[in-house]
Amino acid sequence: MNIRLFKPCIGEDELNSIKETFGRAWLGLGPKVKEFEQKWSQYIGCNNSVGVNSGTAALHLALSSFRFPAGKKVLVPVVTFAATAMAILYNNLQPVFVDIDENTLGISLKDLEKKYDKDCVAVIPVHFGGHPVAMDQLNSWAKSRNLKVIEDSAHSAGGKYKGKALGTWGDIGCFSFEEKKCMTTGDGGMISSDDEELLKPLRHSRWVGINKDTWQRVEENRSSSHKDAYHWYYEISDLGYKYNMNDLMASIGLVQLEKLDKMNKRREEILSAYLNGILKCEEVRAGIPYHLENSSYWMFMLRVKQRDKFILYMKDKGVSTGVHFMPLTLHPFFQQYKSTTPIADQSWKEFVTLPLFPDLTEEEVNYVIHCVNGFKP
Ligand SMILES: *Cc1c(COP(=O)(O)O)cnc(C)c1O
Repeated sequence: MNIRLFKPCIGEDELNSIKETFGRAWLGLGPKVKEFEQKWSQYIGCNNSVGVNSGTAALHLALSSFRFPAGKKVLVPVVTFAATAMAILYNNLQPVFVDIDENTLGISLKDLEKKYDKDCVAVIPVHFGGHPVAMDQLNSWAKSRNLKVIEDSAHSAGGKYKGKALGTWGDIGCFSFEEKKCMTTGDGGMISSDDEELLKPLRHSRWVGINKDTWQRVEENRSSSHKDAYHWYYEISDLGYKYNMNDLMASIGLVQLEKLDKMNKRREEILSAYLNGILKCEEVRAGIPYHLENSSYWMFMLRVKQRDKFILYMKDKGVSTGVHFMPLTLHPFFQQYKSTTPIADQSWKEFVTLPLFPDLTEEEVNYVIHCVNGFKP
């Protein structure tokens, strides 16, 4: 056996969709991106979405939309992917690292209050591993402090909290379609919000600050009845980036979106088999209080006392493992922003991620369970 950790669930349908886009020979920012943005907004239940080329770009632009003065502070969990905190620095803001909840491993609401000061302008909750942050509580706390909420929903495409889609609770939501996440476009991301005024400038800043993308200009030139020699004209009114999603990515995304609920459901089935099959003990236990309904868990986490020994043991058995994530302030670059985060500093030492993807077979799942149960600490 040789079981990998993650594997995108892709096939004929995605290939056919790419072929159609090839046939039209318009690969850049175009009608497919627009269609994907509309279908995505419908799917999660919000007014507007902007397609970008990564979740990192989504976070960068989402934060930029508030035009916070340089040097202000943004609250962010210390256990997350680097991009969540990098986006703060891209905007000339300061990350304030917040400890995690012992149980859910999401941002600690208690520690948020401790880390808050009057220079804080926003908070970025992360639905860690797909497990929802209690967004009703977080939102009311943030509101009482006059903070904007940027939801990092990179782990939670298709997930819900109290019946409402994750990524629609905050002022603005960011998604990642990187290949390991709940659904993929290869690389890709989405920014979603009900507030079109917030998103409007982002359609320009994802396209080098240009106020009309090429497809828009082609369309206008085609349809205009009067002769206009200035169809090429556009204006740059703001700082911009080359962050657009393209039609090739969107053509994969449109198919993946159709499959998203099924993929999340399949991951729930596998998780359920894992949770029922793995003998819980002091040494090995589930990493998160998995709640298998309307969920978007994209990784399966255990907490193992002798983690490093366990990782080597699983490697011998041909089962890939990972660690998501080491607290960011343990990385050299983020040390300068270190704050007190005792729960994260202690609990991450037990984190280990096991294989989870929709195409895992029953035989493979049983094999992983068998291996975990055979571990002698
Ligand atoms: C993956 C991820 C991102 C960034 O997404 P990319 O599409 O890889 O740029 C942001 N935040 C979290 C929590 C992630 O896991």
